[in-house]
Amino acid sequence: MTDLQEVLDEIAQEMACSADRGTVAQYIPELAKVDPEQFGIAVALPDGRVLSAGDAGTGFSIQSVSKVFTLALALGKLGDAVWSSVGREPSGNPFNSIVQLEQEKGRPRNPFINAGAIAVVDLIMAGHEPKEAIGEIIQFIRHLADDDSILIDEHVARSETAHGDRNASLAHFMRAFGNIDHPVDHVLGVYFHQCAIVMNCQQLARAGLFLANQGRDPVTGAQVVSPQRARRINAIMLMCGHYDGSGEFAFRVGLPGKSGVGGGILAIAPGKASIAAWSPGLDHVGNSKLGSAALEQLAKRMGWSVFGA
Ligand code: GLN
Repeated sequence: MTDLQEVLDEIAQEMACSADRGTVAQYIPELAKVDPEQFGIAVALPDGRVLSAGDAGTGFSIQSVSKVFTLALALGKLGDAVWSSVGREPSGNPFNSIVQLEQEKGRPRNPFINAGAIAVVDLIMAGHEPKEAIGEIIQFIRHLADDDSILIDEHVARSETAHGDRNASLAHFMRAFGNIDHPVDHVLGVYFHQCAIVMNCQQLARAGLFLANQGRDPVTGAQVVSPQRARRINAIMLMCGHYDGSGEFAFRVGLPGKSGVGGGILAIAPGKASIAAWSPGLDHVGNSKLGSAALEQLAKRMGWSVFGA
């Protein structure tokens, strides 16, 4: 039997030697300051163990990985009504692209591109002040990670707000089509705070465990989403979780995954494990370069690809 801890240690060693680490996100100044020489990986198993290697205890900005959790939260609150505001097709475009929004009358292609995640935030905000919505999102993530110490980095949230013109355009454009109910600055305030949540690989892998276990947290026994919803969230992660790099990630790794520009990736091996990999350097589409390489190695060595060992 393959020893998982050994595999993780080997992968961390290989990644430490890697010369090509990609480029740290530049468009959010706070993220541009992060040391690219870091790499961590953690695997949460259905029996509750969390194995890890490298910098798996170092916190990072989860950025778009948060979109998995806000989708689960919105589906729990509103059910399938979510799908009238956002689609579930891959976009084949960059995460911050606006082009398809005009063709599709302000309804984003999926909940994982920026426009889609902003539309999901608008749904979560119904009946809430922005502060309450932020509180609800962070509480949900703490509950999933079973860890009340998880916080939001206000510097990152502010840094992104100050450079958020692109996201503001997406939100205004959707609002013009009637697909955003709340004032744009309120919606963006919640969205930027959700992206600025700080987690380490161990916490992130733990938080994703319900998706590897038919929607149920195997440790606390909480049914977070129905088995059907867990399957569907995984399907959207596989098809859309890496933007215009989703095909490449499916081809190389073969797991549902969601990346963020902080360099984190959450990947799910259904029935087997929830995995978080992190390294701040990104490839040309904004996905963690070493994170993807590490997941490719892990899936290969463990035989975890959803397409067969
Ligand atoms: N907060 C980032 C943005 O809105 C999230 C993008 C990402 O992680 N891909 O641009």
